[in-house]
Amino acid sequence: MTTVYQQTGLDCFARVERSLHGELNLDVRFGGYFDVPAESYNALRKQYDPRQVIKRLKELNGPFPDYRLGIIGVDIYAENTNFIFGIANPLLRSAIVSLFRLSGPASEERLGKEVVHETGHLLGLEHCNNPSCVMYFSNTLQDTDRKNMSLCILCRRKIEV
Ligand SMILES: [Zn+2]
Ligand SMILES: [Zn+2]
Repeated sequence: MTTVYQQTGLDCFARVERSLHGELNLDVRFGGYFDVPAESYNALRKQYDPRQVIKRLKELNGPFPDYRLGIIGVDIYAENTNFIFGIANPLLRSAIVSLFRLSGPASEERLGKEVVHETGHLLGLEHCNNPSCVMYFSNTLQDTDRKNMSLCILCRRKIEV
């Protein structure tokens, strides 16, 4: 079971649910809305630290969630990157995807790919060298647009054993 939390004001659960169920065959439920914690804001970078957001997710008590996925609208970063689309912490069974950089005509599809990607990490998958595979690391939107919504056959085998 995967529980999806949305930052207050967002409305994308249907897309997230469809992607995770369709590609990873996961049961998905809506966990509610949450606010990005103020302490996650980095004033120097004018971006948010997703590790703090993951901590907030962990505090939210979904009913026995196996995995938690938070969808947020603010720009996030990691060390040595200008930005990231999302991040997963398999130990905490929690992941974040940001819509901030996914806008444009393909935004719904981009969101689907990124939630499948981050949830794939929660299932134990690592990055894949196949640029068509959804587990390929997206450095740019072009990377996201080029890859498929689905796992390549090698990645699929890893989660189906
Ligand atoms: Zn990744
Ligand atoms: Zn792959």
